[in-house]
Formats: sequence, C-alpha cells, structure tokens
Amino acid sequence: MSEQGKVVCVSGASGYIASWLVKLLLQHGYTVKATVRNPNDLTKTGHLLALDGAKERLHLFKADLVEEGSFDSVIEGCDGVFHTASPVAVEVSDPQAELIDPALRGTINILRSCAKVPSVKRVVVTSSMATVVFNGKSLTPDVLVDESWFSNPLLLEQSKLWYMLSKTLAEEAAWKFAKENGIHMVTLNPGWVIGPLLHPTPSLSVQEVLKLIKGAQTFPNTPYTWVDVRDVANAHIQAYELLEASGRFCLVETVSDGSETLKILHKFYPALHLSEKPADDKPYVPAFQVSQEKAKGLGIHFTPLEVSLKDTIESLKENNLISL
Ligand code: NAP
Repeated sequence: MSEQGKVVCVSGASGYIASWLVKLLLQHGYTVKATVRNPNDLTKTGHLLALDGAKERLHLFKADLVEEGSFDSVIEGCDGVFHTASPVAVEVSDPQAELIDPALRGTINILRSCAKVPSVKRVVVTSSMATVVFNGKSLTPDVLVDESWFSNPLLLEQSKLWYMLSKTLAEEAAWKFAKENGIHMVTLNPGWVIGPLLHPTPSLSVQEVLKLIKGAQTFPNTPYTWVDVRDVANAHIQAYELLEASGRFCLVETVSDGSETLKILHKFYPALHLSEKPADDKPYVPAFQVSQEKAKGLGIHFTPLEVSLKDTIESLKENNLISL
C-alpha cells in the first residue's frame, strides 16, 4: 500500500527514534505534523527543519503529554498517528510525575484525540521490550521471548523499575482504550536502541554505549536487547502501511551481554580502554532469545549489531561526543 502524500502526526518528534521516523516519513512522501514541547528551541528542532522535504512537508506544533486535549488540533485531519513521545529516564526523584503520568496519561490523552478524528485509520505506538520481558519467568538461553509475553506491573513496582513500569502501564491502558474505542492500534516494542544520531543529544540507550567506552570501571553482566534505530523507524512505517499488521512487534536484533558487546567494540577500536570487570559478583546472566518472526513479517531485515555499534561510535565522533 502506498501512503505517499498522506498526513501523519508524530509525537515527541525531536527525540532520537522519532527524528529518524520523521526523516524516513518525509523520504516516503508523507506530510508530517510533528509535535515538540517547544517549537522555538532550535537545539531540538534544527535537525528536523534541515531534513530533505522538511521545508515543504514538515509542520511543527507545540504539545505536551500531560496537557489534556493538547494534541486535538494537531491530530485533526491526520490519516495516521505515530505516538513516540514518552520520558526516557531511569534516575528520577518523583516517578509518578516524571515518568508514569506523562507515559500513561499522555498515551490516553493522545488516543482520546485520535478517537475524536474519523480520518485517523491507524495509530502506531512506540512501546518497549520493557513491557514484554518482566513477567517473572526466568530468562535462560533456551527461552524464546515473543509478543505473547507481558510484563507484570506489580513486579516492576516492587523492584522500583519506574521507567519499565511507566511503559507497561501505558501499553496496558492503551490496548484497553483502543479496544473500547475501536481504534486500530499497533505497538512496536524495541529493545536497547542504538545507531547514528540525527542530533547531538544522545538518548539514554546511546548513553549506555558511551558509558561502555568512556572508561567505566565495570560493565553490566546482564543482557542487552540491541536493535538499530534505522530498523526501528522503518518498522514503524511498515506497521502503519501494511494493512495486515496488527498487535505487538518485538524489535531485537541480538541479545548480548556487556562482555560480548565490549568484545565487538574492541575488535573495531583496539585503542579503547574498555572495562574488564563485571559490575557485581552475581552469577553471569546468560542471554535469552527474542522471536523475530513477527518483525520479519513487516519486511525488517535487522542490521547486525556490529554495524550498529560501529555506526553509533562514528556518529558520536562526528557529534564531538567522543574523540578516538
Ligand atoms: P528521547 O530521545 O529521550 O525522546 C523522548 C521524546 O519524548 C522527546 O522528544 C521528549 O520531548 C518527549 N517527551 C518527554 N516528555 C514529554 C512530555 N511531557 N510531553 C511531550 N513530549 C515529551 O528517547 P527515545 O530513545 O527516542 O525514545 C522514544 C520512544 O521510544 C519512547 O517512547 C521510549 O520509551 C521508546 N523506547 C526507546 C528505547 C531506546 O532504547 N531508546 C527502547 C524502547 C522504547 P523533549 O525533546 O521536549 O524532551
């Protein structure tokens, strides 16, 4: 199905993943109504305004997840909505206000706006593997995680994993609202997203790579679920365009622990001083597997981790965030 020329909304457009999504949507011929919290802040919007096609087909709007009705006028006249905005942070002093309210209330706020606009045919929500893996089952190498898994909010609350909780509560509520209001919704559930930056502010997931290479004393001995930002953005568009796409889509190229990741980095950048010591004395947690079957149904051919890591480092260099 070609959606060339159609009008779509992208929430949180200045973010890492959303910037790539906007870039690809413009390349595909869409008109993009992009929401940001402050359209006048060129440090956050300059890279979007410089994209090919932006002059003709990118329109910036001010909207905030926690303001009721904030997205109503933006979504009016849209054929589709990509909801990517959500605070991404692990260290917060007030989890309810800083993470849960914007994620949960914000998602329902946007879906409520979508429900009022008959032209909206599909809503694509950027969820996370955080809403998938934390259900209490053990994650051993023989385990294949797939879209039928759903994280348990009680476990996340007990473990004080507030970001994971915010995403899980938001996705859970989104499915309920979409079902009750006849909204055709699809969720993408990426793991740790890495790859080139379109603007010089690294998201939390790219900061993790920075930590690994900037001489951290130790490396985490828990597995990372890596995926490339370009594949994630492309999957959003495929999930919107493919009529048969439905439900959730796990997006993970490789599950790899800190030491394996460091080995790859060392292969390409032998001069780097990388940590050789795991973060704790707990037993090493072997990597599990994540099903790619549904994602491949979207036509996604995952970028190998080696390429994603190398492109991340090169992009960090170009943005003067590291010197090697
Ligand atoms: P990011 O670069 O930090 O982008 C987050 C975006 O959310 C920013 O544009 C931010 O706007 C916006 N936002 C935060 N609070 C908001 C509010 N109250 N109202 C309106 N906008 C608000 O993070 P990202 O890595 O691209 O993440 C984008 C989405 O992917 C999120 O939903 C995240 O949970 C999900 N995700 C990310 C990863 C990952 O590894 N990076 C993995 C899985 C899922 P400002 O620019 O105004 O702050």
